[in-house]
Amino acid sequence: MLRGHHLLCTGLFVGAGYSDDFSENMSRIVGQLQENPSIQLVCRPDAICTACPKSVTEEETQDFCDQDSVRSMDRIILEALHIEENRCDTYENIMNLVRERMNEEIFQKCCGSCSWYKKGFCSYETYRKRIMKKEAD
Ligand code: SF4
Ligand code: SF4
Repeated sequence: MLRGHHLLCTGLFVGAGYSDDFSENMSRIVGQLQENPSIQLVCRPDAICTACPKSVTEEETQDFCDQDSVRSMDRIILEALHIEENRCDTYENIMNLVRERMNEEIFQKCCGSCSWYKKGFCSYETYRKRIMKKEAD
């Protein structure tokens, strides 16, 4: 199970994360995805979120990123890929849809307000280099 916008996060991951536990878990999941498993695409917290320090509120009662503002990032990606929520397919098939259907406008809508985008870790240019595997202009 992978939340929609984590298709981009896993593709652009360079080892940095919210905490050591988060980065370790993320690295493990990115490694598993390279083996091309079947994944279910969702708009809710996933296995990446479970090791994230932001996954609970200060009261530790509710998933932080189970809110509409974060779920909307998942929906933007799934709508762009024309994929219904909860669909299962292989990781490679889904990443081929990302390569075919993503564009800069969709990337900005999904990632423009993310702290990692603002810190400069992620950009449409890095997306093109690392996920599209071609040089940015
Ligand atoms: S900007 Fe944020 S949401 Fe977008 S790929 Fe990077 S970490 Fe993920
Ligand atoms: S809990 Fe939120 S910030 Fe953490 S990995 Fe999940 S979506 Fe990203």
